[in-house]
Amino acid sequence: MKIAVSGGTGFIGGHLIRHLLERGDDIVVVSRSDKPVSIHTNKTAGQITELRSVSWQQLEQDPSLLEGIDGWVNLSGESINRRWTEQAKKEILESRLRTTGQVADVIGRLKHKPKVVVNGSGMSIYGTSEKDEYDESSPARTIDFLSSVVDRWEKAADRIPAERIVKLRVGLVLGADGGALTPMMLPYKLFAGGRVGSGKQWLSWIHVEDMVRLIAFCLDNDNMEGGVNGTGPNPVTNDQFGRVLGRSLGRPHYFPVPSFMFKLLFGELSVLLLEGQKVLPAKALHHGFRFLYPDLELALRNIVARG
Ligand code: NDP
Repeated sequence: MKIAVSGGTGFIGGHLIRHLLERGDDIVVVSRSDKPVSIHTNKTAGQITELRSVSWQQLEQDPSLLEGIDGWVNLSGESINRRWTEQAKKEILESRLRTTGQVADVIGRLKHKPKVVVNGSGMSIYGTSEKDEYDESSPARTIDFLSSVVDRWEKAADRIPAERIVKLRVGLVLGADGGALTPMMLPYKLFAGGRVGSGKQWLSWIHVEDMVRLIAFCLDNDNMEGGVNGTGPNPVTNDQFGRVLGRSLGRPHYFPVPSFMFKLLFGELSVLLLEGQKVLPAKALHHGFRFLYPDLELALRNIVARG
């Protein structure tokens, strides 16, 4: 398949491109820059593949640069892992609406439309809860900044004129080289790890390898459509997560961090760790997707060993 990947220079996008190249797909990166993108395809052999990249700006002038693509995975968006100042919040929202709008516009101007678009989204679409469980049949609930961003992001994706749209509700993606795990590991490495807040809040996690395999599954499988939860089958609470993380690193899980301290340090961003949601990948399981890392201990041991 010929696939456009926007956000391909990021954490998930980099892993995705490696996976798609390994199975023989042809990739074009869509980025804010038009410089070619270098990807380490086989780390042990030190092999580097240089990929063609087109910028959003070039596409605005000439959408035919993407003529012939069979699919588009759009993972672009300003990072949420920063202090949520008013300016940052504006860019977090606008970058997602802008890029998704551009995907819709470019595809609208192509002679041959790609069959499928996998557009980024987030599990915040369900709101937060300590007691409820969510799958793709659960309604969207806009209760705070992040849930309203994701709601608007999904509504923008609905306007993409492709035959099949997948709105990938990405969970907490675990990997050795990006995402939230590295900062979460730090206190444990310093022998100061412990639960955050009550420890009862849910963490719906997924190993990055399963994340990119699930994206490829969505590209290939005509049954995968609409909201799709990008989470593993076994979410855990914050306290359980910390215990397993401590064990994987050979460090104690002992020093709790009270909520007020977390709020003081991170402001509104602290909602990411102080509140959560238990999100299950019902659609993926129903259509036969098999997780390589369904269990947290297995996933973290694998990541720490690679680390
Ligand atoms: P990264 O931050 O690693 O990468 C996102 C990419 O988006 C960047 O490589 C960049 O590509 C592009 N980008 C960054 N800022 C902007 C901007 N202001 N305007 C337009 N494009 C921008 O993200 P991840 O790979 O971790 O995540 C991918 C998507 O999944 C994101 O939208 C994220 O919100 C979502 N997600 C991720 C989770 C995780 O655990 N990692 C959890 C939940 C959701 P370039 O410079 O080439 O344009």
